[in-house]
Order: sequence, then C-alpha cells, then structure tokens
Amino acid sequence: MSLRVSGEATPVTDDDAFRREIREWLAAELTDEVRGAGGVGRENEAFEQRLAFTRRLAAAGWGTLAWPVAHGGRGASLSQQVIFHEEYARAGAPSRVDHIGTTMVGPTLIDLGTPEQQRRFLPRLAAVDELWCQGYSEPGAGSDLAGVTTRARLDGDRWVITGQKVWTSLAHVADWCFVLARTAPAPAGGPRSAGLSYLLVPMRQPGITVRPIRQLTGDSEFNEVFFDDAVTEAGFVVGEPGQGWTVAMATLAYERGAATVGQQIGFQRDLDDLVAVARGTGAAAVPALRERLTRAWIDLTVLRAHTLRVLRDPQPAASSVIKLLWTRWRQGLGELAMEVLAHGDAGPEAVARWQTYFLFSRADTIYGGSNEIQRGIVAERVLGLPRQARG
Ligand SMILES: Cc1cc2nc3c(=O)[nH]c(=O)nc-3n(C[C@H](O)[C@H](O)[C@H](O)COP(=O)(O)OP(=O)(O)OC[C@H]3O[C@@H](n4cnc5c(N)ncnc54)[C@H](O)[C@@H]3O)c2cc1C
Repeated sequence: MSLRVSGEATPVTDDDAFRREIREWLAAELTDEVRGAGGVGRENEAFEQRLAFTRRLAAAGWGTLAWPVAHGGRGASLSQQVIFHEEYARAGAPSRVDHIGTTMVGPTLIDLGTPEQQRRFLPRLAAVDELWCQGYSEPGAGSDLAGVTTRARLDGDRWVITGQKVWTSLAHVADWCFVLARTAPAPAGGPRSAGLSYLLVPMRQPGITVRPIRQLTGDSEFNEVFFDDAVTEAGFVVGEPGQGWTVAMATLAYERGAATVGQQIGFQRDLDDLVAVARGTGAAAVPALRERLTRAWIDLTVLRAHTLRVLRDPQPAASSVIKLLWTRWRQGLGELAMEVLAHGDAGPEAVARWQTYFLFSRADTIYGGSNEIQRGIVAERVLGLPRQARG
C-alpha cells in the first residue's frame, strides 16, 4: 500500500494510475438508476439493473480483480483491491449481486477445484452469467454446522440429494448452490464433520423448491430450500467425497478481505447521511446526540485504521475481531438513527430507509458466524483459553 506523509511530493505510482482508471470508469458508467441501490436489507432493490451493472463491471475486468490472471482475473495487489473498493463505495456504486460467486465459490474452485470444474464454472462466474447461493445452514445446524443432515448418495453418474437448507440468501435468484451434505456416516469416535461433502448443485430443477422467508423488514432476501431427490453430476463434488468440511471452511475464509474496506467507506456515507438528517430534525443541536454522532465517527476512524493494519499485517482471528467491531458499530448507528428520527420530522423516505437499516442490523450479529461464535474464536486462538465443550 502506498502511504504518504502529509506535505510530501506525491509521485505518480501504479496505484495512482489504477485509482484514476477505476474512477474514470465509474464516472462514465454509473447511472442514476443504480446509484446507491441495494445494500443492507435492500438486496431485492433494482435487482435487474444492478445485475446489468455488475455484468458491465465484469466485462470491463473489475469483477474478479483478486483472481489470478491464469483464471481470468487481474491478479491485483492488495493495495489495488483496497483502492477499488474505496472508489466503488465513494462513488455510490450499487451493491453487487455477484459477491457469493466471485468472493466465495470462485476462489474455492481456483484453489481446490478440478481443472474440469474450473473450466466449467470459472468463466461463467467471472462474467456473472450464473448467480450462486450458499447452502450450509439447516433448521438444526447453524453455529453447529457439522450437524447438517441433508444427505447425498451417488447413483451412477449423479448425486441424489435430499434434505432442507434455511436462511439461504438469494436462493430465489440463484442458478447454482454450493451445498454441504452428508455422503457418509461420521466415523465412530471420529470428528462429526467427517463424511460431509461439498457439492455444486443446479438450482433450476424439479427436485428443488425455494420458499421465501419474510423478514422483520417486510422484504424476503433469504429462503428455505427443499431438496427432494435433487440431482447433480458426479463430478461436481469439490475435494474428496466425505472431506467437504475443509472445503466449506476454506470458502468461509475467502468471504472477508479487502472488501471490508469498501464496506467501511459505505458506513462513512451512512454516517454522513445520518448527520444530514440530524441537522434537518434539529437532533444535531442536542448535546447527547451530538456526542453520539461524534463518537460514531471516531469509532469508525479507529475501525478503519485497524482494518488496514491487519490487512497489511495479518493477526490471529483478525476477521472475527473486525466482525465484532463493525456489527456493534452498525447496530449502534441504527439505534442512534431511531433517536435522531424521534426528534423531528425527517420525511417518509428517510424514515423508511433508517427503519430498514435499524431492523436489518439486528441480523448483523447472527449471519457470517454469530458474534458469540466469533468471541469463542478470539478466546481460543488469541487468549489461548480452553476449548469450549461441544455437544
Ligand atoms: C441475514 C442472514 C442471511 C443468512 N444467509 C445465509 C446463507 O446464505 N446461507 C447459509 O447457509 N446460512 C445463512 N444464514 C444463516 C446463518 O449462518 C446462521 O443463522 C448462523 O450461523 C447461526 O445459526 P442459527 O441461526 O442456527 O443459530 P444457532 O446456531 O441455533 O444459535 C442460536 C444462538 O445460540 C448461540 N450459540 C450457538 N452456539 C454457541 C456456542 N458454541 N457458544 C456460544 N453461543 C452459541 C448463537 O450465537 C446464537 O445467539 C443467514 C442468516 C442471516 C441472519
């Protein structure tokens, strides 16, 4: 990352040229119909327009920046990835619809897929021709993921899958799902995660039923997914059959990274918007609310500095610590927004936006590994506390 001391001459570096390139692309391509669309609790907003924009982004080579060149990416450095996410968020570009594909399953296939799987899936992932969803959680298996009971058996040249997943984000628009399923019993006395497999399953087939779940916000972004003798090709298992746990954990590890920086620039925009609302409602003149708005700015500045530091110099359990910090920050901003709105009339648009923000932020501490689980990871990996007894 090129860091500069204030007052120094600013030489043109590759990073500067890269920043100009993405800025110019966004200035030319970003239209009002997608500006600011999507985001927290608004996954269904302007979906078709955001899909078209995400495809244009991909066609211009920005979609898979971090992928190696050999697999159709740009092999961008960490600093360039950070610059991309900063500029993308600053320009108010829409929330992308391809993140599960390009940041989760794509890198998994690059590292652990067979050449046939890479040839079949990577070009379509990169072009955003196929959308993906993540089929891990089940009614009886969330934090305790090794308890999944969805089963798959090999029948000739195909896997036959039976069971149920839940909370499957974007399953209603997905073409494919990566599914964690039991293909063999766990060995007696061995780890419960043994015998699970990681399968790539087409969503549009008679054996799959997707039922939307209505959320607290009134929208339906996630779903129940039922597998009744659903099928996929025998070759669409990633890693060895029965050893899908390692693959599933690898996918989770790819989920975070440089994109966190863009998310935090998005938080800065949220805070700026709330400050504007507070000025309008008069809440900005209330000492207790001024202090909380200021504290939100300080906490965000510290979070951003910490994130950049651990991206450059990885620390144990860093993604858990960052998740704990940003979820607390965003829930805090949602709560503060409710008090700012209570102070005066902000107008129906601001009320709707901030209510959705407040309500959806309740989910932040649950998805992507609940905050209790993240604290457990920090306890064990950073503090060296004894491992928690598992049921
Ligand atoms: C908005 C949203 C989107 C999601 N999208 C997806 C998706 O696309 N695909 C997918 O597979 N899943 C998805 N999920 C599911 C998510 O991964 C699970 O909700 C999460 O892992 C928690 O599992 P659970 O809901 O079964 O709760 P449980 O695991 O039953 O936990 C209930 C409570 O007990 C606590 N708890 C559990 N175990 C421990 C422990 N060992 N120590 C301390 N406390 C513990 C938890 O922290 C939580 O507070 C999504 C969830 C949300 C909210």
